[in-house]
Amino acid sequence: MAGGNRARERGYDEDDVRSRANPRGTRPRSKQRPAHADALDGTVFAVDRGRYSVLVDGIEVTAMRARELGRASMVVGDRVGVVGDMSGEPDALARIVRLDERDTVLRRTADDNDPHERVIVANADQLVIVSALADPGPSYGLIDRCIVAALAAGIEPLLCLTKSDLASPDPVIERYSPLSVPAVVTHRGGPLDELRGHLAESVSVLVGHSGVGKSTLINALVPSADRATGVVSAIGKGRHTSSSVVALRLPDLDGWVIDTPGVRSFGLAHVTADDLLWAFPDLEDGATQCLSGCEHVAGAPGCHLDAWVAQGHSTAQRLAAFRQLLVSR
Ligand code: ZN
Repeated sequence: MAGGNRARERGYDEDDVRSRANPRGTRPRSKQRPAHADALDGTVFAVDRGRYSVLVDGIEVTAMRARELGRASMVVGDRVGVVGDMSGEPDALARIVRLDERDTVLRRTADDNDPHERVIVANADQLVIVSALADPGPSYGLIDRCIVAALAAGIEPLLCLTKSDLASPDPVIERYSPLSVPAVVTHRGGPLDELRGHLAESVSVLVGHSGVGKSTLINALVPSADRATGVVSAIGKGRHTSSSVVALRLPDLDGWVIDTPGVRSFGLAHVTADDLLWAFPDLEDGATQCLSGCEHVAGAPGCHLDAWVAQGHSTAQRLAAFRQLLVSR
């Protein structure tokens, strides 16, 4: 799969937002010793009831998890080692014997009251937050939460604002400008060149409510996909229902898009203030002078961030944007 560490190579202003490969709390836990020297490298692009679809040397292989992996389970985007029948024939079944370290982990809690974490996608380097400008209008709460999830995962957020023929994108772009989150604007039937530019050589996860045009976008980007009618041919003969997470290869772009139809929101109970602070290097040093355990929200006793901004280390807009994200968790 292409991408990987592209997030740090892009011309992104690191003073504003930065991402990290392995933020605290997302350290890979499942590095396995190579038990099979002959295992071939592959990438999981779909998971369906314990069966994994793995791309190995351009061949779509169906594989089970080897018992020796213990309780480790794979998600879309995982890089794995595979042995066994890799002919790609209809009844062929291979085994996944190795799970490689993950560069990034996009995770959620099942809901805000349930601290159980679920990994959604591994090794993505971009989270594309698809939001309509009208019909339905933008959900700022959802956008904020997606940005938090991305920053906490060390993944770059990108706003994709659809239906620009119905409403101006300016208020949304203005709202997120203190965060330096890039935005692309599209409308149905319009050119997608700018979006394609962002997706090239990246592994991008697309999230968005129904009705925002995400399926339309994916169908336009990946003509072999048909996300509306229930089946998709990811890279050839594979068929996966539209309700499951699936990675789709972008023709000619050396990139992948990962559709997340079941993901309606992100439970963020696992994200701490410190996780988020990491994405605000202009505030991070100031926070070291806060009282121990400070949550950094407006009016928090002993929070040094207001004074830090008053000293000119950052701006009131940046602090307000940080706090807006903090309370959106
Ligand atoms: Zn503080």
